Amino acid sequence: MRTRYGTSPWTSEFPASRRPAFPRFRSDRPATVVIVGAGLTGSAIAYACAAAGMEPVVLEAERIGSGTSGRSVGLLNTGPGPLFRDVAAAHGLRAARRVFETWRRGALDGAALLRRLNITCDLGPAAGVLAAPREDEKALRREYDARSEAGLDDAWLNAKQLQGAMKLSAAAALRTRDGFTVDPYRAAVGLASAAVERGAAVFEQSRVKKVGFTRKYADVITDGGTIRTTAVVVATGSATPEWRSLRRHFKRRELYAVMTEPLGAAMREQLFDSRMTLRDTRVPAHRVRWARDGRLLVAGGDQDETPARTREAVLVQRTGQLMYELLTMYPAISGLHPQYGWEASYGETADGLMYIGPHRNFPHHHFALGGGRDTVTGAFVAARLIVRAIQRTSEKGDDVFGWNR
Ligand SMILES: Cc1cc2nc3c(=O)[nH]c(=O)nc-3n(C[C@H](O)[C@H](O)[C@H](O)COP(=O)(O)OP(=O)(O)OC[C@H]3O[C@@H](n4cnc5c(N)ncnc54)[C@H](O)[C@@H]3O)c2cc1C
Repeated sequence: MRTRYGTSPWTSEFPASRRPAFPRFRSDRPATVVIVGAGLTGSAIAYACAAAGMEPVVLEAERIGSGTSGRSVGLLNTGPGPLFRDVAAAHGLRAARRVFETWRRGALDGAALLRRLNITCDLGPAAGVLAAPREDEKALRREYDARSEAGLDDAWLNAKQLQGAMKLSAAAALRTRDGFTVDPYRAAVGLASAAVERGAAVFEQSRVKKVGFTRKYADVITDGGTIRTTAVVVATGSATPEWRSLRRHFKRRELYAVMTEPLGAAMREQLFDSRMTLRDTRVPAHRVRWARDGRLLVAGGDQDETPARTREAVLVQRTGQLMYELLTMYPAISGLHPQYGWEASYGETADGLMYIGPHRNFPHHHFALGGGRDTVTGAFVAARLIVRAIQRTSEKGDDVFGWNR
């Protein structure tokens, strides 16, 4: 089997005939809300704004979901990525509890919304397991104790229980109560289409070149025209050149992913249940999940962004490395081939959390940017927080993701 490099299964296998096409933006007009970027985050915010009657205008530079969203692993996690103890050390116990509770609610709300809207995106329940080798066991125990004291409802698995649940040989693990897997590309496209049904106007191949502002309004400028508004939502994944001064908050990182060919029934039986997902405490961490047709998806190998000229060679090397590492975790997959190998970049923040909220240097703006590798859920968290901010009904604690945290 030949491996397809550089493309994710989510976008490659989506039937072209079902891919909605949206026009380019060509006019000058006012709008209540303008959303810049239509990945999962922009699409979820667009739906939430449209459902609240705001008739948002969405401007996407390329195609819906063609950024990181269409290349992600698709874990709708109940945890925000960084460990609870790290968030508590950086921001205090109360803030950490708020972050984790908000994330869990975001995952549950996101899954409920995708279901309610009937979006076909292979949504399925998948509780997350965080496994530690012997040298990390004590640290994981401290993490478990801190979460328990904070009232977070995770379970401790010893080596035997972990072997039983995940067929994995490691010292111990934490199991979170909920979590889901999703096809992130279909989710983004489905949410954008649902937003249009509720009154949003979506434009593709319509890059925002600049946003100018006065005290009273902002002008969102594209090649096809300008939109005057009092609410610009920036959902471009990371700080793009249009918001250059914010770039220092993000470190560009690359993550690699491999989807295997379908596993036979005998091989599948020696692996874990499809209603579970696996992450380990190694640096960089591995994430493993099941996908459609009994295929396994493993991601990891994070590193700083590589120069474009070496990217292809690095991708082939990393794909091979990830397959090897998967084999050391699950020797039963011996002989299995990778079907897809791809990479994507993301903007990592210092504390691993997204920035969601206004910034004092950018009047009329609301940002929903970055984080790390657990921001699929962040799309739904951001949608809720930003609608509240636009409606001026923000709640105490919404600023836990703010720029001044
Ligand atoms: C390989 C990989 C796997 C991951 N797996 C997971 C996972 O399993 N679970 C998880 O929770 N998170 C995961 N993440 C992180 C998560 O997928 C991403 O952070 C998330 O999808 C980002 O979505 P987004 O909509 O914010 O950004 P994007 O999907 O990147 O969307 C941003 C959009 O903005 C557009 N844009 C940019 N500039 C402009 C402009 N000037 N004008 C108009 N449009 C513009 C882009 O074209 C793009 O479509 C992963 C990340 C990577 C790299």
